[in-house]
Amino acid sequence: MKLSDIQATLQALHTSPTKSLGQNFLHDQNLADWTVEQLDIQPDEPWVEIGPGLGSLTDFALKRSPHGTLIEKDDRLIDYLHEKYPTLQIVHGDASQFDVRSLLPGGPVKILGNLPYYISSQILFNFTAEACPANGMVFTLQRELAERLAANSGSKAFGSPTLLIGLRWKVQILKMLPPTVFLPAPQVESAVVSLTPRASGELPDCDRSRFSKLVKLGFSQRRKQLGNLLSQALPRWKDAAAELGFQNTVRAEALSLEQWCRLSAWPAAKSDLPLGQDSHGEQFDIVDQNDCVIGKTSRKEAHEKQLRHRAVHVFIFNSKGELFLQKRSRWKDVAPLLWDSSAAGHVASGDDYNETAPRELEEELGVSTPLTSVAHIAACPATGNEFVALFSGIHDGPFTLPPAEIECGDWFSPELLQQWTLSRPQDFASGFLECWKIWQTSKNS
Ligand code: SAM
Repeated sequence: MKLSDIQATLQALHTSPTKSLGQNFLHDQNLADWTVEQLDIQPDEPWVEIGPGLGSLTDFALKRSPHGTLIEKDDRLIDYLHEKYPTLQIVHGDASQFDVRSLLPGGPVKILGNLPYYISSQILFNFTAEACPANGMVFTLQRELAERLAANSGSKAFGSPTLLIGLRWKVQILKMLPPTVFLPAPQVESAVVSLTPRASGELPDCDRSRFSKLVKLGFSQRRKQLGNLLSQALPRWKDAAAELGFQNTVRAEALSLEQWCRLSAWPAAKSDLPLGQDSHGEQFDIVDQNDCVIGKTSRKEAHEKQLRHRAVHVFIFNSKGELFLQKRSRWKDVAPLLWDSSAAGHVASGDDYNETAPRELEEELGVSTPLTSVAHIAACPATGNEFVALFSGIHDGPFTLPPAEIECGDWFSPELLQQWTLSRPQDFASGFLECWKIWQTSKNS
């Protein structure tokens, strides 16, 4: 929007920009077009704009794809936005509290915005959360925050936001903006940044929850040596520093993102197998069409020859009735990065379903709770030729997820899951989809 259009619109709405909402409206059309172009929104791709204001960026995003959602907090702009963009979905609310899980049924989504500076960090953390299906973001931020996110180790700007966001996202400063491109002009300079998802293998594997714990501790007092700050969480600090090749007097900002990953993974698990693959020698019972044991074989052979064997799935609900799903680790040989039951696993040779279910729950979520048998599902292609015993239980977490097995986990309402499984079955492990179908039927009968 041109400066004169912004002024005329504000006048027509009998309003003026509000400082407490971080309202600085972009009036440089070339810049607005260029910013949206950086996100490379495809014609059939969904996008979300945070803080559309009067629509300076929205006009250009809408030209690229009709599948947009706007999240705006200012009550005064909602009717105006509905009128100007009747085909877009408009969410009236605070983007830092927006439930990013609601985007999952729409699949991968691009996110953009000239963010309100008073709450940019909280919005960034919300939209970079594990469960958000964002596959690219472009934001205008206060220059100082942009520099913190893109900082290199050793610099003053390098800190916990650099690492916590940098673990999954590559942040790049694309352009610095002077205050004069906004109405009113802010007191500070701004920068346009892009966030691109990191490719798997780009950084060393690590346990993400341990990574955030160590980073938060490490940067809790910048002047202190890291060894002192991590003395409880990493009692063998000196051994770790020696093995990983840094001085044990080092401070948090001296370690690079890669070194933080290595530190979080230390001591490395001793295994010949890649993360997420089952250990050697695991044996399964082979069963006939009536689930009677007729022999036993290795995990590899059971899968390669599609022999009927046994597994359990466990659905854990919280007291709000939401189901916990795990996202399978990227290192899994079967269905990597797909969403799956709260816990699931094979029945080892000689074991039965009832003893395997609580054990899997303990191994995968680190908890125990009484389980109820829900269904016995016959072996079929969707279950990978597994007979599946489905159990359910109630627990409110928190859970301890093994990083080699599970990427992340979250709670989902049955309504959202119903919508999501129908719109994007490709996001789920097929065994879970089968269990979910059976669960739905058992609830409705
Ligand atoms: N995109 C417009 C532009 O470029 O001209 C406006 C950008 S202005 C910097 C920030 C926008 O975010 C304003 O429209 C403001 O009302 C909105 N906003 C402020 N706080 C918000 C929040 N917590 N959630 C969503 N929008 C918010």
